[in-house]
Amino acid sequence: MIQTLTPRNDATLPTAPRPESTRAQRLRPLVGKPAGSLVIHEIYRSLQGESTFAGLPCVFVRLTACQLRCRYCDTPHAFAQGMTLTLDEVAARALDLGDRLVEVTGGEPLLQPEVLPLMTRLADAGRTVLLETGGALDIGLVDRRVHVILDLKTPGSGEVEANLWSNLRLLKATDEVKFVLCNREDFDWAVAQVRAHALTDSCPVLFSAAFGQVNPTDLAAWILESRLPVRLQLQQHKILWHPSARGV
Ligand code: SF4
Repeated sequence: MIQTLTPRNDATLPTAPRPESTRAQRLRPLVGKPAGSLVIHEIYRSLQGESTFAGLPCVFVRLTACQLRCRYCDTPHAFAQGMTLTLDEVAARALDLGDRLVEVTGGEPLLQPEVLPLMTRLADAGRTVLLETGGALDIGLVDRRVHVILDLKTPGSGEVEANLWSNLRLLKATDEVKFVLCNREDFDWAVAQVRAHALTDSCPVLFSAAFGQVNPTDLAAWILESRLPVRLQLQQHKILWHPSARGV
């Protein structure tokens, strides 16, 4: 089921703002949000597509707003459009859809502190909970039952400076680190990070080809050549449905 929600704000950004005003602009959709509520872009069912859980039916809870602007972002519609729901309402809608697997994503879900009790509520209800986060905000307060899928932003993303490296010390065996690779330089950078931080000793590591930028066949060859135990991750939903399709 795809749920269409009403736009809450206008995300139009100035062309050359100072960094602080840029961040403030990007967080504007969350300004005035009542405590205990979340600004939600959409809640829907689909197949999980970008982790070791890929292929499983999953409920997606997509939160509004992101402080980053990755060059390859495929969810810019979540930057500003959404509606305010109470934590109880969000949990009830996610649980009503019935799937055992629930992914909390965005936007950047960790911008809204209420996402922490939401994930705990979903885990308490017996759901397997995934959190997709851009890797720029602290994961230290996330319920230990949640599987954190942590992006490490590459140079090609345009957001490499945003990586919060201290998060790597918090990774559990049930978490996953994901690199979205835009070119061969990104691949070499990712390999260097995997080796420098011994990431494959912590949790599964996913190498994903930015859609339309890296040929997955080339990426497969590069991975084999590197001899690293990392997993090739295809953006399954873009293979199954149109790459620009929303709510899938
Ligand atoms: S962190 Fe995710 S939602 Fe935010 S800009 Fe990057 S890809 Fe888009």
